[in-house]
Amino acid sequence: MLRALLSATTRSAKQDDPWDLAGRVAQLEAAHRAHCEQPDLLLVRRAYRIAEQMHRGQARKSGEPYITHPIAVATILAELGVDTATIAAGLLHDTVEDTSYSLEALRSDFGSEIAVMVDGVTKLDKIHLGSAAEAETFRKLVLTAGRDIRVMVIKLADRLHNMRTIKFKKRPSQIRIAEATKDVLIPLADRLGLYIIKRELEDIVLETLEPEVFRHIKEHLGSDTDRKRQVAAIVPQVRRALRGYKVAAKLLDRPRHPYSVYREMQKHPGTGPSDPPRLVVVVDGPATECYAALGAVHQLWKPIGGKFRDLIAAKKFNLYQSLHTAVNGPGGVPVEFLIRTREMHQTAEIGIVAGLGEAGSDPAQVQLPWLRRLLEWQNEIADSGQFLDSLRCDLADQDILVFTGHGEQVMVPRASTPVDVAYSAGPAKGHRLIAAYVNGEIAPLSQRLRDGDSVELVLTNEQPYGPSKQWLEHAKTPEAQLHINGWFDSQGVDDLESTGELPIIPMQRFEDELKAGKNRLWRSLIARGRGLAGDQPLHGVASSLGFPDLDSLYLALAREKLDPDELAEKLITTVDRF
Ligand code: MN
Repeated sequence: MLRALLSATTRSAKQDDPWDLAGRVAQLEAAHRAHCEQPDLLLVRRAYRIAEQMHRGQARKSGEPYITHPIAVATILAELGVDTATIAAGLLHDTVEDTSYSLEALRSDFGSEIAVMVDGVTKLDKIHLGSAAEAETFRKLVLTAGRDIRVMVIKLADRLHNMRTIKFKKRPSQIRIAEATKDVLIPLADRLGLYIIKRELEDIVLETLEPEVFRHIKEHLGSDTDRKRQVAAIVPQVRRALRGYKVAAKLLDRPRHPYSVYREMQKHPGTGPSDPPRLVVVVDGPATECYAALGAVHQLWKPIGGKFRDLIAAKKFNLYQSLHTAVNGPGGVPVEFLIRTREMHQTAEIGIVAGLGEAGSDPAQVQLPWLRRLLEWQNEIADSGQFLDSLRCDLADQDILVFTGHGEQVMVPRASTPVDVAYSAGPAKGHRLIAAYVNGEIAPLSQRLRDGDSVELVLTNEQPYGPSKQWLEHAKTPEAQLHINGWFDSQGVDDLESTGELPIIPMQRFEDELKAGKNRLWRSLIARGRGLAGDQPLHGVASSLGFPDLDSLYLALAREKLDPDELAEKLITTVDRF
């Protein structure tokens, strides 16, 4: 009797709720309870009721009721571990844009914290703004993020669900949305450290834009039995080595996702998909344990040169921290290791959201250098199209790691110059810069650096020192720009305190080398019964030989990269021609 009654109830509930909205909301609540310390389920239900009521009668392209989209977005957010206010904003995120619910009504029902987030992801009116609407919408998002970074997390969850359901769109829309996701949303996910979302977006973009390649890679990953065997052989050996070093750690297999395999194929044209073993070592203790684990791994197998990256000590431009290394594993198979603490591991998955969960943290106070830079621009750039272009451009830049000697590493944006590296250690170092060696060669201060370059700075203590206006063109980082402009604004301020330790080439060595180079040239000239009245002809010859300045030329002479006799002959011909 009871059973009959129950099944009758279930049946009628199913009839009223054919899309199982109740089940989806229950799933959302369960995810929120599992990942949040103080969930406010009453608020979640209140936000759901309003959103469901407002969207009632609207449908998605898939044919499902529209409310399934906000529920799915809120569930993605809940799984990341956000707070209840963000979940409520996720449920309500399309109400102001797509229903009769006004921002004012939302503010009075839910307060301004949630209203600010919903407003931040609400698109601007195409009717009033025309073609500028898309760019202005992004500008608004960036502005809101300056006040509350959670708005970006909602935007990404929104896009993730739209990408998961992209197959219901027409082909031209699919391509347009996938391209925009690739250009702007994926780099944003990267900057926020939301790698868990970034990876999934990358895979869907690849599947949408290159369906054949995607299928090919998927098939390979599914049938790669070599890798499984290799990992199974490696893991016990690593465990033993870690025990030997008294490091308590968890080992995780970290296969590449399809897009990551694709990226490797792009880097090495002509190669097929491959996914060599990659392990994550999550140590129990503090960061120092990571270096102990690294020692254990390097003791076990020979490290592959140039693969070690210290993303713990390196100055960070995003949130990610780990040690990276690669070794020649058993049978010469290259094995990659990512070594990190538990906190670093969490940040490696959910980035900024990990920090938001900390007690006493204020989402309005989250400061990210790249966001500050965006906020600065948006003031200066009046044209909205140009703003979107700059945004795309800035987001396309990836950070690189350069070595500053003695094994120290500094992270700077791609295409940074020695000027940026110098100023990354504070104005005291930057202002004293006079020359730089890149990979052992004297290089112009305008040289764009590449990942893995070694940069040695030549700094002077002799007065007068200071930047030149030209450095503003070389400086890529706002930090360097700021300090250089600051120098010219307040000429003569001399109480510069050093803020970081960069190894310096002793000035003496640099000057000795210059002198030695000069002497070589003079000796050759004198041997030919000539001399030089001024530097003028030398400048011409130097630049015709591809040297950025005379110092570089003298250094090349000192290091026997340039034959002084040949140079002397060239100089004489030049001078005699006039
Ligand atoms: Mn939406």
